[in-house]
Amino acid sequence: MSVSPRSPASSPLFKALFAAGAYFLCSAIALQLTRFDGGVAIVWLAGAALFSLLSITPRRRWWQLLLTCLPAGGVAIGLFGFGGWLTLPLALIGVAEAWGAAWLMKRAHPRFGRFESVTEALRFILIVGLLVPAVSALAGALCAHLAKGIPYGAAWRDWFTAHALGFVVFSPPLLLAMRGQIGSWLRSVRHAQALEAAALLGAVTLCAAITFGQDVVPLVVLPIVPMVAATFRLGRFGAVASVVILLAVGLGCSLAGMGPTMLLHATMTLRLEVLQIYFASVVVILLPLAGELEARQRLLRQLRAAHALHRLIIERTSDVMMRLGAEGTIRYVSPAALREWGYRPEELTGRCAYDIVLAADLPAVVEARHRSLANPEQTISVEYRLIRKDGSAVWMESHMCAAPGADGRPNGTISIIRDTTRRRMAMDELERQAMTDPLTGLANRRAFDAALDAAVSSGHGGCLALFDLDHFKHINDRYGHATGDRVLTLFAAVLRGTAPHGDRAGPMVARLGGEEFAVLFRHASLDQAQLLCERVRLRLADSESRSLTGETVSVTVSAGLAPLTAGLSVEQILRSADAALYRAKDGGRNRLAIAA
Ligand code: GH3
Ligand code: MG
Ligand code: MG
Repeated sequence: MSVSPRSPASSPLFKALFAAGAYFLCSAIALQLTRFDGGVAIVWLAGAALFSLLSITPRRRWWQLLLTCLPAGGVAIGLFGFGGWLTLPLALIGVAEAWGAAWLMKRAHPRFGRFESVTEALRFILIVGLLVPAVSALAGALCAHLAKGIPYGAAWRDWFTAHALGFVVFSPPLLLAMRGQIGSWLRSVRHAQALEAAALLGAVTLCAAITFGQDVVPLVVLPIVPMVAATFRLGRFGAVASVVILLAVGLGCSLAGMGPTMLLHATMTLRLEVLQIYFASVVVILLPLAGELEARQRLLRQLRAAHALHRLIIERTSDVMMRLGAEGTIRYVSPAALREWGYRPEELTGRCAYDIVLAADLPAVVEARHRSLANPEQTISVEYRLIRKDGSAVWMESHMCAAPGADGRPNGTISIIRDTTRRRMAMDELERQAMTDPLTGLANRRAFDAALDAAVSSGHGGCLALFDLDHFKHINDRYGHATGDRVLTLFAAVLRGTAPHGDRAGPMVARLGGEEFAVLFRHASLDQAQLLCERVRLRLADSESRSLTGETVSVTVSAGLAPLTAGLSVEQILRSADAALYRAKDGGRNRLAIAA
């Protein structure tokens, strides 16, 4: 396995030495070109350079940069600055200031350096542009005051202005360039965009040249127009590139004695300070603007991705999505409405959603919507029947949540609506099976117990009849179990014919188990019930069933009848009907006995 040697340019030592060289150069240029009347440097680029380098370097490597830049700064100050015993403290202050700015920024905004939001730009301006230079100026001005007798206030002001403006103006372009953002923008740019960029930045250059190339008319707002345009069209790159252009042209011309600052009857120091205030104002306008634009673009990209996903879901799913206004007007319905319900979306849009809800289920739907609007953070579910275009009603389950309006308050609901007809039918079938005797199709004991409970507690009277086939064991034994089953089915038919059920208020017939059956006569008097029971008994005695071998099978039934006397419990009524049945058996079978 071979290991490729690391390129010397990427080694930490090389980086540190490069940083030291750059720091020395920036300090030297500032001290050489922007110190007037023996004061402090008016344009301070070195702080921004070291701050930017620290910001893109992992914190564990900071010490290398700080240790190499400290002597580099010291040499520059010794050669071109105050020099003397002030060299060390001033070099220390310069390095500490950049370190403090980088440290605070990392804490305040861990992803600092991309200028992709307004928050990031504002935090940068507040911390690096105001707080840090204000503090470092306290120490820097003290040095200048003690050593050179410069008034403390003036020294503080010059230092603060130079450093604050240096940070605000130079850090963003340096940072974006160091992070490779400018490079990646240049690589990703299309031909038309490159032409547009060239035109916009050309306009910035031209306006800057017109503004700073003469000292007759103060046209300082002129460059801002193409700069804002460049920011809008090219984002962070446009903002930073136009600031660099303005800076180069403005500073170059002003140092050469040209430009609108010449109109000020003031010292060169003050002129350059005014110029830097102007530069800083431009940066303060453009940086947050670029950040906001970047954030919006990001949002737009996310929105496009979300929209694509949304479209895919809406087109492929069988669920119907619906958006309703506060009053229930359909504002949007997904195309699945045509497949699932038969309505084209445009037929439903603008109609009231309640029009296609079955009247019986309307209160539940209205209540669910009110609950959803009152609890915007909850998802509310409701099941109801929806009327399809062909008039059929289908069960639907709707999951809804409130949709916020422009003011953030809910002004409607969004629902996902799923057909639950099949599930409902399966549940109904299960319920029916749980209540039915599979052999005869009559109600089973469970269904009968519930009906008897209801009849007894309603207090409307009625009667209970218990039937038990006579000597059924004998039939099974003689003709076989299958014939026994036939006899059971025959008796079920006789019961059904004599006491037709289906009417909720009419008699209810059930097989309680084995060869035991029951009839609940709701509302019937004892006489009426007695008549019907006698009819059952006689009809069974008259009818014949056939065994599998073709033999005629005769069967009789005994019955016990008891009225649903008010005040008696279900158990008491069952017991008295059972006692009557026992008496009928005891009395010779094929007869009806009435409870005493
Ligand atoms: P009694 O006249 O005293 O009522 O005599 P019985 O033989 O009818 O009474 P018993 O309770 O001794 O017998 C009931 C029989 O019913 C016993 C059981 O084998 C039969 N049986 C229970 N369920 C079924 C069924 O689903 N199919 C068939 N074929 N027979 C059943
Ligand atoms: Mg029995
Ligand atoms: Mg029996």
